[in-house]
Amino acid sequence: MVPTVITTAEELAPYHESSFVPTMGALHAGHFALIEAAVATELPVIVSIFVNPTQFGPDEDLDRYPRTLEQDVMSAGRYGADVIFAPDVESVYPTDDAIDVPSLPDVATQPRLEEKVRPGHFEGVLQVVARLFDLVRPRYAIFGEKDYQQLLSIAAMVDEAYESGRWGELDILGHPTERDLDGLALSSRNQYLNAHQRARALGLNRALKAAINTTSPDEGESQMKKILRAHDVRPDYAVIRHAETLMPIDSLDEPARALIAARVDDVRLIDNGPVRE
Ligand code: AMP
Repeated sequence: MVPTVITTAEELAPYHESSFVPTMGALHAGHFALIEAAVATELPVIVSIFVNPTQFGPDEDLDRYPRTLEQDVMSAGRYGADVIFAPDVESVYPTDDAIDVPSLPDVATQPRLEEKVRPGHFEGVLQVVARLFDLVRPRYAIFGEKDYQQLLSIAAMVDEAYESGRWGELDILGHPTERDLDGLALSSRNQYLNAHQRARALGLNRALKAAINTTSPDEGESQMKKILRAHDVRPDYAVIRHAETLMPIDSLDEPARALIAARVDDVRLIDNGPVRE
């Protein structure tokens, strides 16, 4: 079915208590898996498509980020989306409407991870997600483990807001990372890679696979860095952290997660996976 496309907050009123999948568009099978998970809740499914300027740094790819709205509407519909919310920047951030932006939870500010490498990134993410939750008022919101730090940060933000009743009854659902057959995590940014760069990008998944059976966080981190180097991929970080707090850990007695952000020339990719699953 072709979904209803709406662009203003007012039009959202009939769709509160939905299952919500926020995206920046250029939809791929990773997003479709989230839409299918939303369909499984048996509530109406809203997909937002909004390239949020406040989560991009000044030297990042906001201008060249792929925008494919018509195609996205059709494909989201095929996977069961009922409504596409595609607002413009003014509708999300009206100048006369102050947005209460939650403070960053500890999980978003751990040393050497995303917010440290991209200052302001999670502030922008939490700002837009909080704003979208205010407008959409969903019952469920589904996010990918592909953006693991984002998923934990949003879950922490929603937990923190629970007492205030800001978003009522809202559950955050995580969904595993969808990959191409060769293991590359699906991402809208993969479109920037040429064939040679794409082959090098497989270093991320190979590094994560090596980390699964490692003996210690230190050992795992050096294995990952070695594999990234061998693929000519430059890490912003390649670390093993506590799977829930993202704090540095000394041993693998605790639940652990391997997290990588790395650059293939000017294309920045992120991926993560379990350790000792
Ligand atoms: P984005 O459009 O990149 O902002 O992503 C929108 C949502 O899709 C986020 O919750 C992402 O974590 C999720 N997502 C992106 N890529 C994947 C993937 N390969 N597998 C699962 N979820 C994904």
